[in-house]
This record gives sequence, C-alpha cells and structure tokens, in this order.
Amino acid sequence: MRVYISADMEGTAGVTGVLQTMPQEKQYEAARRLMVAEVNAAIAGAYDGGATYVRVNDSHDGMRNLLLDELDPRAELVSGAPKPLSMVEGIERGFDVMLCTGYHGMAGSAGTLAHTYNGLVHTARLCGSPVGELGLNAAYAGLLGVPVGLVTGDDVLRAETEEILPWARFAQVKWAAGRHAARNLPHEQALQEIRQGAEAAVRGAGGMRVFTLSGRPEVEVTFLNAAQTGLAAICPGSERVSPLTVRFAHDDYRDVFKAFRAMITLAGA
Ligand SMILES: [Zn+2]
Repeated sequence: MRVYISADMEGTAGVTGVLQTMPQEKQYEAARRLMVAEVNAAIAGAYDGGATYVRVNDSHDGMRNLLLDELDPRAELVSGAPKPLSMVEGIERGFDVMLCTGYHGMAGSAGTLAHTYNGLVHTARLCGSPVGELGLNAAYAGLLGVPVGLVTGDDVLRAETEEILPWARFAQVKWAAGRHAARNLPHEQALQEIRQGAEAAVRGAGGMRVFTLSGRPEVEVTFLNAAQTGLAAICPGSERVSPLTVRFAHDDYRDVFKAFRAMITLAGA
C-alpha cells in the first residue's frame, strides 16, 4: 500500500496569520513545528492503516519546511522548489491514495488564509467550476489513477472537499473566524483527528473513486488586475477572454496544469 502526502501549511491548526507561514519571520519556527506534527500524524495513521511506503511532498512556499530529522523516519521527503509539479511533485501511477494535509480554501473563499497557489489569483475555474489547490491537485492525481483519501484543514475547505470529493475523509482541525483568524482544535486532538482520518483513508483506499474532469480540460484564471492578466496571456496557447481573465484548454490535463503554473508565475513577473 503506497501512500502519497501533499503537505501544505496554511490549513494547520494554530496557523492563522501570514507571518506564521513565511520562513524569514520570527513566528514561523513555532508554526512550522505545528505543521511537522500534523504531517507526522498523517504518516503514523497511514502506517496504522496498512501503508508499506509513504512519500511526503513539502508543498508550502519554498517547500523546505519539513526537516528530514524531524519527520517520521518511515517516510521519504520530496523538498525544495521550484519543482516541475509543485504541490504534486513525486506523485506517480502506482500510489494507492493521496492525503492532503494543511490544505486551505480556494482563492475568493472565506477560509483562513485562503488562496490558490499565489496571491495574484482572484479566482480559478476548472472546466467551468470554481477550483482551488485541492481541486487542481486532485485532478492531477486522478489522471494517474490516484484517489484523494483524506483532506485536513478548516470548515470552508471541508465544504469544498464535500463538493468535489464526496468520498474523501476530512479531518477538520479549525473553523475559520476570518481571513486571519480561526478557532482551533487543541493540538493533541487535531493530531488524533488526522491520524484516525489517515488510517481510515488508507484502509478504504481500495474502493475509492478518483477525481475526473467533466469535459475537455480547461482552466480559467481571473487575476486581481489587468497588468497581471496581460502578463499571464503571454503563455502560448492561452486566450484572454476578458480584461482580467485568461483561459487555457488542452486535451491533456498535464498541459493544462503546467499552463496554470506558467500563467500564475508570469502574472507575478
Ligand atoms: Zn496552499
């Protein structure tokens, strides 16, 4: 039983402020420890549920938040950035299930620290439906036949998960009380929720559905301003459909995912 974990930070219990998520800031080190504890809870749960191999992909910011000597020694770590596939780097056919820890609501939602890949995205849509990091990454995993079995984060992300991945487990560790605020579960209780969720997700991975797109893969990104959109529209194959929105469609979702990453990177140039 091979388990892949994509580990983000903003959805971690106790993490509610931007400064907590930035490595150069003073508050970061304490917040990073909370993230490590949640990832370790997911790894432990995965092994409780029958995992024989676990690969963790550090998926936050510079992607060097998890330190190898603090991580459960049974897991391999993919770290550093930039990585070609970013939050899903290292996933491949043959993994039985993907767990998404520390995830957060999509850009434009009311979730704590909600965003989609970077702060320039106002909203993103996949095949016409609003989407966040969860949906974009789940679609990539789906392409490889890997179902998302567990998502952890706040109540806003829970609703998002139930909408697009109704078969996935959700370990809710906080309730959004504003963009930079949340009511958090006690630390040990959050870890227990995650561990139990991971165990159940791995046990149930066999019968789980994968996320598939309805129709031709197509992503539409609305940026905060027209300058960003103009830069994003440099991406070959993209189409600027309104002053603030670019669209990219392709038969292969791999190219759509890469184009999304290219467009949001260009937008910040
Ligand atoms: Zn994120």
